[in-house]
Amino acid sequence: MKFSSFGKKFTKNSGILQLMDDLGKALASDKPINMLGGGNPAVIRSVNTVFQDTLIKIANDRHALESMANYSTPQGDAKFIATLVDFFNRHYGWGLTADNIVLTNGSQNGFFYLFNLFAGHFDDGEKAILLPLASEYVGYADTHIDDTHFLSIPPIIEEINHDGEEGFFKYRVDFDKLENLPELTNGKIGAICCSRPTNPTGNVLTDKEMARLDRLAKKYNIPLIIDNAYGAPFPNIIHTQATLNWDTQTILCFSLSKIGLPGTRTGIIVANSDVVRAVSAMNAIVNLSPVRFGATIATPLFADDSIVRLSNEHIRPFYAKQAQFAIKLLKEQFCDLPVKIHKPEGAIFLWVWFENFPISTTKLYEILKEKGTLIIPSEHFFLGIDTDNYPHAHECIRLSIAQDDDTLIKGIATIGEVVRKIYQQG
Ligand code: PLP
Repeated sequence: MKFSSFGKKFTKNSGILQLMDDLGKALASDKPINMLGGGNPAVIRSVNTVFQDTLIKIANDRHALESMANYSTPQGDAKFIATLVDFFNRHYGWGLTADNIVLTNGSQNGFFYLFNLFAGHFDDGEKAILLPLASEYVGYADTHIDDTHFLSIPPIIEEINHDGEEGFFKYRVDFDKLENLPELTNGKIGAICCSRPTNPTGNVLTDKEMARLDRLAKKYNIPLIIDNAYGAPFPNIIHTQATLNWDTQTILCFSLSKIGLPGTRTGIIVANSDVVRAVSAMNAIVNLSPVRFGATIATPLFADDSIVRLSNEHIRPFYAKQAQFAIKLLKEQFCDLPVKIHKPEGAIFLWVWFENFPISTTKLYEILKEKGTLIIPSEHFFLGIDTDNYPHAHECIRLSIAQDDDTLIKGIATIGEVVRKIYQQG
């Protein structure tokens, strides 16, 4: 069988495909595994009870069932879109109409569309997506239908205290480099994109940083895409002050995944009407219409703001507690080693830096896998950067904190033991 160049690109054995395969196999195996690698959100019982009660009501409502079973328009479930328009206008006063929202089958599906809309081959040459703060979400990496069109720059690493303790750092956007990038002035950037909070680091770009990115997008008349998968107002896994803004230059991407419904594959894009029309047209070709299951469950929860209560009273506190617990465990393991943790400002991961580590964290990943503990090594997250010439890209790992305490205890103990030995051997 011969595959087209599109086929070859989308079937090649990328590093991340291999990692995801490992994660899937580990979950399916009967060997005990400390799963600190995946991106699945936690199962939070109190939240699931609300979803279950909502599902029971839907099952007993013939009209809800019938409309869920039919195709929607390519833009998505009209009732959910109308509810979202009210929801965002009520909370943020953005003045949205139904022309400003389109649904996708998960936000991953949305990023596939957006990155191919705004990067690749144009009449005036090639354009890339600018990722202002490496490291970034690994799921973006292979989304372009041809080649790879990402550009990023290494972050400024600021060593800081957190809760009065040393041993933390925070990435900052290197604006001196960013604002003087020749690719921006030469028209080689099609859009700017950042996740906020960031997967993998849990960094939250400050309001000042966002305002500067917004100015840059406006100066070059390109969209600013904000990936809000972990942000406000749902699931609101965000532990710092952060304002959420929208205007017609901004494309805001939301997801129902991290409130605990990843399997419903529901992404929400808030954008100007041109982008909404473009994404709807792509939906028609790729999916006919987006899945309505998540929309049907979510509609009543957005209509009465239950989603905000669930986020603020259950989801955010759960991850704040897990972050604190995992940090305590990491500190116990590494108090005398040059190991630092990215300030946990949000999302469902910790990003740990083994400074001057004698081996790459990709090798560390292999050793830990043998011992039944799964993490994700850092190099895959530095998209758009020449990682061969950037040692820091090989010195970090991403740990999921969505697991129960026992998994965190066992997994972090294994990491501690292995890492200590490797530092000692030099
Ligand atoms: N963006 C970020 C930052 C993510 O972490 C994820 C999933 O882990 C996604 C987007 C994709 O989410 P989904 O396609 O489940 O909505």
